[in-house]
Amino acid sequence: MIFVVGHKNPDTDSICSAIAYAELKKNLGVEAEAVRQGEVNPETAFVLEKFGVAVPELMTEWDGKKVILIDHSDVSQSIDNIDKAEIVEIIDHHKIGDITTPNPIFFLAMPVGCTATAVKILYDYHGIEIPKNIAGILLSAILSDTVIFKSPTTTEKDIKAAEDLARIAGIENLNTFGIQVKSKLSNVDEMSAEEIIKRDFKDFNMSGNKVGIGQVELVDLSIIEPRIDEILSRMREMKESEGYAGMYMMLTDIIKEGTLLLAVTDDESIVEKAFNAKLENNRVWLDRVMSRKKEIVPPLENAYSS
Ligand code: MG
Ligand code: MG
Ligand code: MG
Repeated sequence: MIFVVGHKNPDTDSICSAIAYAELKKNLGVEAEAVRQGEVNPETAFVLEKFGVAVPELMTEWDGKKVILIDHSDVSQSIDNIDKAEIVEIIDHHKIGDITTPNPIFFLAMPVGCTATAVKILYDYHGIEIPKNIAGILLSAILSDTVIFKSPTTTEKDIKAAEDLARIAGIENLNTFGIQVKSKLSNVDEMSAEEIIKRDFKDFNMSGNKVGIGQVELVDLSIIEPRIDEILSRMREMKESEGYAGMYMMLTDIIKEGTLLLAVTDDESIVEKAFNAKLENNRVWLDRVMSRKKEIVPPLENAYSS
């Protein structure tokens, strides 16, 4: 049995691409099962329910297991005790991370907006027809990761894949459906500050500095404005207790198309260096910035390394 799993704090891409890729492997005669390493978020729950797809099982013990990694190749985002598992494939759309393997593996890293686009391309490559429910969840992942094609990570391949998948899934208006999907994560009222920070949070090692970057994507930033002080104070506590050099939180407005970046860092000049903008009260508005992977991580890595 091969287990297919996305990153920690799973997003819709991590869950849906794992399910779809496990399904493709089964079609190719491989015993495979999608699992998850964390709770599914409300957006993913909505998508799975809408298309009638079961939530993958939670898996926390990986020793001796064969694993396909989806939507990441960083040790810090991956399964616990990764050295004791056998990584047999990686399918991703991020920069190449720090996972290494003792043996040659199939490693597909495509510079596209979503792993689901790569999975769709792999279905086509193998000539396997995509079932309607799988098309629906792959489409949802693409709309989610590309922020309905507004993120600068979006490529022609994502748009083409989404159009093909929408036809199979019977979704007519991609914008309407995309906003419906994205709005599921906009409901932060009943979440604690820590839940807001941790829902889509990733750890990075930047030139030896432990850096944490969270993101929430909202249909309207005013939803979260009254919570900012509370979020910042929780970020300060987490920075101290978990030994971060910098804690960052992207509050992204998907309609206005920009990000209010919250930063709690040992060295505020890092933010200035990275974004050419000054923090005021631990916050700075970054116009047009929507992508952690493309617009936040690379400039921060440069700033930490210089
Ligand atoms: Mg992801
Ligand atoms: Mg992704
Ligand atoms: Mg994401």
